[in-house]
Amino acid sequence: MGNYFTDNPVLKHYLQHPLMQRIMELKERNFSDAAAYDYAPLDAEDCMDSYEKVLEICGEICADILEENAEVIDQEGPVCKNGRVEYAEGTLRNLEATTKAGLMGMAVPRRYGGLNFPVTPFIMAAELISRADAAFENIWGLQECAETLYEFGTEEQRQAYLGRVCAGETMSMDLTEPDAGSDLQAVMLKATLDESDNTWRLNGVKRFITNGDADIHLVLARSEEGTRDGRGLSMFIYDKRNGGLTVRRIENKMGIKGAPTCELVFKDAKAELCGSRRLGLIKYVMALMNGARLGIAAQSVGLCEATYRGALSYALSRKQFGKAIIEFPPVYEMLALMKGKLDATRSLLYETSRFVDIYKCLEDIARERNLSPEERTEMKTYSRWADAYTPLAKGMGSEFANQNAYDAVQIHGGSGYMKDYACERWYRDARITSIYEGTTQLQVIAAIRYVTTGAYLEKIKAYQQEEVFPEFSELRQRLLAMTAKYEEMVAYVTGVQQDSFLDFCARRLVEMAGHIIMSELLLKDAATAESLRSSAKVYVQYAESEISRHETYIRGLDVKEEAYLEAFRPCCDL
Ligand SMILES: Cc1cc2nc3c(=O)[nH]c(=O)nc-3n(C[C@H](O)[C@H](O)[C@H](O)COP(=O)(O)OP(=O)(O)OC[C@H]3O[C@@H](n4cnc5c(N)ncnc54)[C@H](O)[C@@H]3O)c2cc1C
Repeated sequence: MGNYFTDNPVLKHYLQHPLMQRIMELKERNFSDAAAYDYAPLDAEDCMDSYEKVLEICGEICADILEENAEVIDQEGPVCKNGRVEYAEGTLRNLEATTKAGLMGMAVPRRYGGLNFPVTPFIMAAELISRADAAFENIWGLQECAETLYEFGTEEQRQAYLGRVCAGETMSMDLTEPDAGSDLQAVMLKATLDESDNTWRLNGVKRFITNGDADIHLVLARSEEGTRDGRGLSMFIYDKRNGGLTVRRIENKMGIKGAPTCELVFKDAKAELCGSRRLGLIKYVMALMNGARLGIAAQSVGLCEATYRGALSYALSRKQFGKAIIEFPPVYEMLALMKGKLDATRSLLYETSRFVDIYKCLEDIARERNLSPEERTEMKTYSRWADAYTPLAKGMGSEFANQNAYDAVQIHGGSGYMKDYACERWYRDARITSIYEGTTQLQVIAAIRYVTTGAYLEKIKAYQQEEVFPEFSELRQRLLAMTAKYEEMVAYVTGVQQDSFLDFCARRLVEMAGHIIMSELLLKDAATAESLRSSAKVYVQYAESEISRHETYIRGLDVKEEAYLEAFRPCCDL
């Protein structure tokens, strides 16, 4: 019997971070729920204990059920029959196990039947599930649509749907259409209000919808006739029980094969408006996507963990030239870098989830009472950090998941190319993480403003005010030099005063900030978690080289009369 939570002690380090005290107090309203629910925690210790217990159960299910089923599900996949999705048998068993264990509706408030977990332990469960089966994590993880329904739906809608999610019904977010991918303002699925019975009807096509035959859907649709931009879009709740939706096909895709990616046809499908008209994209879907992006960051960390462990185990057992391949420096260098990227991206993931937790809890409290001026400031501060860190965690975490999957296959040599080892599946599964929920290029667009406004720098300087663990003072000096280089490059790129130059260099600037932030977080975390110390050293070395590489690249671009644009264009004319 394995356990993906207890076999990885560093997870408790993140779960027991000092900021969790504040998060528990806010989430549990100073533990007042204990009077109404006998299973609600009495105090912070009791609360932490309940998070750990649930994560232990989750870890056991991951190792003993989900991981065991993953390979067969990948081969079988779901099928589309008569306009409906039939999951692979293993997926049904996974759903049954996670539902029975109370892992559906984890973050839903107790009064609707959920566990009332904050984002941080929920995201940790997502990491564990992804390590076992990234495809199943998609189906399970879509329960976070319930958060958006809770935030923007009416009390009646909460009562109608949230309990069903806790009981194991699944969800989907239906945004993408053939002509609306990265640019969701172009969504055209039509929502019409039938004045006679005050009912909304949906007509049109959605594509690439994960778990598209879910029980409950959140659908982005055009409610305002004659409009063409984001302000004409609203969000709707579609309940499968009402009919009107058929699955035209399931995509035949590269990876995450266990999660059906569907083309959907809505034909006079009855739906309910969620929130106010016209705010569908600009407010609700933005909130939905931020949550989902954090989910993909967790999925990426889970894949980094799986690929690292798989590669390590193979390198220890495979012998060539009379010794285990792990003894060859090029192999152990690859492994050390994989571990460094895994630990760095995990530090960023949980820093981000804590920021999200604090502001979301305060936002929720504001629905019940007026916040004090201090609480309002706290909410605004954490909301800003959450917005700044989410695209970094998703953008860089997903790229690391891809890089680590690539290196895991490399370490397996020819065997890695065969289906005999799980790394072949991880390689295919990882590829999507940098595409859905906004491609890496779209994460850069979301993040660049925090480069130009100095928000990342402000945070980096705050980390650098803190004492560093004595063994790391040399690393801190190197980080100070990297920060100076980053500041210099931001000043240089913005000083050129060409929008296209900023666009051209944005990804490099965002990555520079990300590398420094992740290095600083690793130094902080490694002070109390000994297992992170070697990763901190390796990652700072890597970050330093990446920052120099980006500097050299940017400095090499000829900015006179935008000559760099001309230099790159010939290859695009082909
Ligand atoms: C397996 C899978 C599951 C999915 N699940 C869901 C789901 O559950 N719900 C849902 O609604 N959608 C889902 N999607 C859709 C997914 O979110 C989109 O595919 C993704 O957002 C990219 O859109 P696109 O495919 O149209 O690519 P495009 O938008 O056409 O992008 C193509 C390329 O152009 C780049 N690009 C586009 N615009 C810009 C820009 N302004 N600046 C720089 N580069 C740009 C992109 O980065 C990308 O490299 C899923 C997709 C897949 C493949």
